[in-house]
Amino acid sequence: TKLRVGLLFGGRSGEHEVSISSARAIARALTTEQNTGKYEILPFYIQKDGRWLAGDVPQQVLESGTPLQLPTTSNEQLSVAKTQILSRWQSPSQVAEVDVWFPVLHGPNGEDGTIQGLLTLMQVPFVGSGVLGSAVGMDKIAMKTAFAQAGLPQVKYKALNRAQVWSNPCVFPKLCDEIEATLGYPCFVKPANLGSSVGIAKVRSPQELEAALDNAASYDRRIIVEAGVVARELECAVLGNDSPKASIVGEITYASDFYDYETKYTERKADLLIPAPISPAVTRQIQEMALQAFIAVDAAGLARVDFFYVEATGEIFINEINTLPGFTATSMYPLLWAHSGVSFPELVDRLIQLALERHSAFS
Ligand code: ADP
Ligand code: MG
Ligand code: MG
Repeated sequence: TKLRVGLLFGGRSGEHEVSISSARAIARALTTEQNTGKYEILPFYIQKDGRWLAGDVPQQVLESGTPLQLPTTSNEQLSVAKTQILSRWQSPSQVAEVDVWFPVLHGPNGEDGTIQGLLTLMQVPFVGSGVLGSAVGMDKIAMKTAFAQAGLPQVKYKALNRAQVWSNPCVFPKLCDEIEATLGYPCFVKPANLGSSVGIAKVRSPQELEAALDNAASYDRRIIVEAGVVARELECAVLGNDSPKASIVGEITYASDFYDYETKYTERKADLLIPAPISPAVTRQIQEMALQAFIAVDAAGLARVDFFYVEATGEIFINEINTLPGFTATSMYPLLWAHSGVSFPELVDRLIQLALERHSAFS
């Protein structure tokens, strides 16, 4: 009998469309020739307004690859949506049929441990990191604390919260002065819990710093400011549970100022070089650090670990870990594995097996 895979995609984040593309690629790979007879897909689509759908509509979204067009939601509709979420999950018909879940959601409410907590409570296996790994991997401040503890080199940074940024006008300038003195310009201001470069600004002056902090605070209670480095951007894919393996290393190149949202999602604005043109020694260091980072945040299944490589000095800084990286046919994560000898269909098959292994080890 076929294993029924609950494919959970869409979501309320800015990465809704990416999620749909990733889910399509994964659905195709799970039912491709190489995996014939193994899997049946049960699609679950989370609309942009947060409503959950099972059955025909998700199937249509998967097939067409386009989000469901919705009228703008009023507050009243939103509260209806919340009750619907609950009733979906209390309706055993759709949900109870799933043997293993595959969350293909990026960003808050998908990659951050919330969904993982729900699935843990349901006592069903699911692909990827659990609550801890997802939450630590999502929050850039918690992530950096874990990396520091593991001895991984990072750029200088300062953690802030919204209350400090929106504090009274006498305190705020002091905060900005302190950031300027310790981190200098350019620095990067980031909301701690987003992805896809949403809310991130590269700042070069006190005026820009104030504006960027204010903007980041509108996205998140937690904010991080980092010293900017001029560096190449390298990425490494990790696969496994307690004995994870690292892929070959890839590089992202682009002409823009930094790897911002537009560069990430506009075709031809960024190039992926696989393998990255770097020495075997740098490759080995990156792979070793990627595995340390994976273990440091307690990731499971999969993660993509991103680095800054300052060629002139040979320094390597870890930038971040992404526990549910982009998974489209042209995304770095599956491409790194394809070039490391694990095809896309084999990769999704391995991820499901890892989910089952992890679940049986815990229950
Ligand atoms: P996200 O999780 O949204 O991808 P990142 O922390 O990876 O956020 O930042 C997005 C991009 O911003 C990076 O890929 C890089 O191009 C640029 N960037 C971020 N932090 C720095 C930094 N400290 N120095 C130089 N560039 C940075
Ligand atoms: Mg990220
Ligand atoms: Mg990033």
